[in-house]
Amino acid sequence: MEKKKSGYISIKESREIQKYNVKQMKYYEALKRRKLAESEYTSVMKDENNVIELENLETCFFSDNGTVKAVNGVTFSIPKNKIVGVVGESGCGKSVTSLSIMQLVQAPQGQVTGGEIRFNSDDLGYDEQGRKRAYNVAVMPTSEMYKIRGRDITMIFQEPMTSLNPVFTIGYQLDEVSFLLQPDIPKADAKAKSVELLKKVGISMPEHVYDSYPHELSGGMRQRVMIAMALAGNPKLIIADEPTTALDVTIQAQILELLKDLQREQGCSIMLITHDLGVIAEMADEVVVMYAGKVIERGTVREIFHDPRHPYTIGLQKSKPLITSDVNEPLYSIPGNVPNPINLPDNCYFRNRCNRCVEKCKGKYPDMIKITDTHYVSCYLYEEGGK
Ligand code: SF4
Repeated sequence: MEKKKSGYISIKESREIQKYNVKQMKYYEALKRRKLAESEYTSVMKDENNVIELENLETCFFSDNGTVKAVNGVTFSIPKNKIVGVVGESGCGKSVTSLSIMQLVQAPQGQVTGGEIRFNSDDLGYDEQGRKRAYNVAVMPTSEMYKIRGRDITMIFQEPMTSLNPVFTIGYQLDEVSFLLQPDIPKADAKAKSVELLKKVGISMPEHVYDSYPHELSGGMRQRVMIAMALAGNPKLIIADEPTTALDVTIQAQILELLKDLQREQGCSIMLITHDLGVIAEMADEVVVMYAGKVIERGTVREIFHDPRHPYTIGLQKSKPLITSDVNEPLYSIPGNVPNPINLPDNCYFRNRCNRCVEKCKGKYPDMIKITDTHYVSCYLYEEGGK
């Protein structure tokens, strides 16, 4: 839709937006219900050492005020057996990216409108040219998605209390995962597996917890139960969306340590979403920095923390409180605000907050520039040789 000039919406404009939204939502919902041949929702991996590759992913929300581009051309990949941290301020599109991977974006308003999400599945094998075949989750029918969601890709949500059903026991909810993955598993075996999982995530007296209700457990224990659920299907990828935000600091450290140990033990990958740079530094092998629905910098944890390049990443590092900081000095904060996601500018989205603008910044949105084989940044300052 055409960009609005003022901040107000007239009744006529509002009707136009609604008409446009209904048309778009019907279109994307019909796409999901289509019967597709396997070749239409499969693709090939660019690198078979990756567990998932996102390429130009676009997810929009058709709201009453216009189309919100929550994820706007996101490209990055998660290698096998690695922890990739996705960092950025609230509303930058981290959680919507993860929900797009799980096909859990709130429909019909929220829709994946473009790009590919290639998931490296062992079910599909290789094509005739020897390339690893992958599911394209962005267009995969919902009925097919059940094959990988909860088994190969699982998610640990932010708030364990709202993720667990308060009227069923922990055991009932854990067994349910086993029944979904193996419909003919005997009840006694499902129980033994659930108790084993509870033990694995460090819960003492697992038999007692098996018979407890969520409200009888502490926040840390509930989050351990959520991790146990995520591990039930031996996943290849665990998406942890701010898994420690609702917990106090000491429990946070325990849960993060547990996640790291389990990742090493199980040999899976983790996509760790957080706004806490300390958590990223402690846990991640690689880091993706997002701003206003786009990836603005990505690299190894060492590159992002010791050699940040994008003015936003540098600003984020500066706004971190340090134990050595002068207590009388105010904490640095990046001036200005994130642009309105309904009316995004045509040039760099960080331009209105950037103190290092050059003439070129008035032009089109900057492409990703390679600094090293693993370090990429989207900023005009590094166009020539990355200096
Ligand atoms: S492209 Fe320009 S405006 Fe954008 S972050 Fe780089 S220097 Fe700042």
